[in-house]
Amino acid sequence: MTVGELGEFALIRVLQGLLPASGPEVLVGIGDDVAVLEGGRQDGLVWLATCDVQVEGSHFLREAVAPEDLGRKVLAVNLSDIASAGGTPRFALVSLGLPRDLEAAFVEGLYRGLGQEAARFGVQVVGGNVSRVPQGLFIDLFLIGEAPREEVLLRSGARPGDRILVTGTLGDAAAGVALLVGPSGRSPAGTRVPQEPFPVPQDYLLRATGRRDRPEPRVREGRVIGASRLATAMIDVSDGLAGDLGHLLQCSGVGGRIEASRLPVAPENRLLARATTGDEWHFALHGGEDYELLFTCPPEAAGLLADRVREATGTPVTDIGEVLEPGTPGGLLLPDGRLVEFGGGWDHFG
Ligand SMILES: [Mg+2]
Repeated sequence: MTVGELGEFALIRVLQGLLPASGPEVLVGIGDDVAVLEGGRQDGLVWLATCDVQVEGSHFLREAVAPEDLGRKVLAVNLSDIASAGGTPRFALVSLGLPRDLEAAFVEGLYRGLGQEAARFGVQVVGGNVSRVPQGLFIDLFLIGEAPREEVLLRSGARPGDRILVTGTLGDAAAGVALLVGPSGRSPAGTRVPQEPFPVPQDYLLRATGRRDRPEPRVREGRVIGASRLATAMIDVSDGLAGDLGHLLQCSGVGGRIEASRLPVAPENRLLARATTGDEWHFALHGGEDYELLFTCPPEAAGLLADRVREATGTPVTDIGEVLEPGTPGGLLLPDGRLVEFGGGWDHFG
C-alpha cells in the first residue's frame, strides 16, 4: 500500500503506533497543533513545540514566489500553530534542502524574509541544517513557544452549548491560489492562467494574493484568547474551516453547526468561488491557508471575548455557530434552511 492510498490521517496513526509511549513530562503529544511539554523556563510555564515544512511543487512554485515571502511564510505557518495554543513563540531551528543549481541570492532572500518575520514576533533562530537535494527545494522549520500551563488551549475542550468563533476572514488565500493555479486551487504543481477574467475587482485580487503569499499569523490574538481563560478549545484554520472545525469537534467529542450567513467571507470571494467551483462557500469551507483562529467558549463569554480581541489587536472576531451534543446532526446551515455536511478536510495526500 502506498502512503497516498493510506491517506494522511491513517498514516499518522500507523506511525504513532511504532513509537514508544511518551513519559509524564509530555502533557500533550501527537495529534494536536502543538506538543505541550513540562519543564518550562519558570514555574507555571510549559513549552510548546511544532514543525511545518514548505515544499517546492506542493506548497509553492519557485518561479512564482518571492524568496522573502517564502521565508516569512515558513515561519508564519508555524507561528500560527503556536498561536492556536495561546502561546508566545520563542526559538526556531531551520532545515534547508537545496538543489545545487539554486541561486545563492534566493536563499539570502529567504533568510531576509525569515529574519524580518522572526524580529516581528520576537523569535530567535538558534540553529539549522543545510543539505543537498536532487531537485525540489524545501524549508522545514521547528518552532518552540511557551505559555502559562492554565492558559494553553487544545483542540479538545469544546462543550455542547459553546459558541464557535473565528478571527478575521475566510477563503481569501484559497481565492489567491485559484488565481494562480486554476479552480481546484490545491496543488501548484501545474500553473494555469485562467482563460476568462474573474468577475472580481482588482483590489480584491490584491488582497487575495496578499493573503496567499503573506499570511498573517494571529499570535497576539491567540495570546489574548488564551490569557482570557474564557475559551474552551482552539485550532488554527490551516486546512480549511470545514476540516479544521471537524478536527476540533472530533477531539472534543461533540457535534457542531455553523451558519453560512454568519461566515466572515468577502462578497467577492463568494463570487469567485461560484465562478470557479460552482459553490460560493467552497473557498471559505475547504480552501485552506487562512491561518485564522477558530475557538469555542461558553455563550455568555462570546461577546466579551470577541470585544477583547478586537480592542487589543484590531482583528474582528465573528460568532459563526454552536457546539452540539454528540450525535446531533450538524454541518453548515445554508441561508435557504438546508443543513449540509461539511465534507472532508484537506488530506495532504488526497
Ligand atoms: Mg494547526
